Amino acid sequence: MKKYHSIPEEKRQAAVKALEKQVLKEVRNIYPSQGKETGIYILTGDCPVCGSSVPAEQRCCGNCGQRLDWSLD
Ligand SMILES: [Zn+2]
Repeated sequence: MKKYHSIPEEKRQAAVKALEKQVLKEVRNIYPSQGKETGIYILTGDCPVCGSSVPAEQRCCGNCGQRLDWSLD
């Protein structure tokens, strides 16, 4: 009997993926888009991971959960 237990590869990879989403990634293609109901323009960007459009006030992607960096330098 082993005295240690190794972490199964699939669990390890899931943990790595979860950690990667905690790391800020720069939003791509920040552009103004007009709200369908409000008619007000808000900044929108594309998630660098899944490509979903995300309104600027959101700290993470609503689709994949990636944390987003909105710095515009
Ligand atoms: Zn995403």
